Amino acid sequence: MSSDRDAAAHCIFCKIAEGEIPAKKLYEDEEILGFHDIAPWAPVHFLLIPKRHIPSMAQITPADAALMGRIMTLAPKLALENGCQPYPDGGYRIVINTGKHGGQEVEHLHIHVIGGPRPWKHG
Ligand code: 5GP
Ligand code: ZN
Repeated sequence: MSSDRDAAAHCIFCKIAEGEIPAKKLYEDEEILGFHDIAPWAPVHFLLIPKRHIPSMAQITPADAALMGRIMTLAPKLALENGCQPYPDGGYRIVINTGKHGGQEVEHLHIHVIGGPRPWKHG
């Protein structure tokens, strides 16, 4: 059985958070990183991640409430700053895929923020 530390050593988003793999960053603080998705679905598509390796929403505990609250309150602000148009005529989609049935491909918790004028490639 592999530990969280082993998982993190091979995790692409941990490597992005540590600067080992480049990404187009749009936000950074001590515990959160925002960067543009490499394969955008829409004119605006970025990801927000905790820098700490948390595999998915399935591992979130009450101790993570403040972190998740910060991520969710950053999302609307960063959406507008990065090209999404204001609610209600504009707006965006916030998605957290979780596990295989949820369509999660990268096992490091990430929040998708997807928006901009339609049509989009997907969704
Ligand atoms: P998931 O399907 O796990 O919810 O979404 C993973 C997302 O990460 C996908 O939209 C994919 O395009 C994006 N992604 C995967 N690898 C990289 C990468 O190396 N850099 C960036 N910027 N995005 C990535
Ligand atoms: Zn990770």
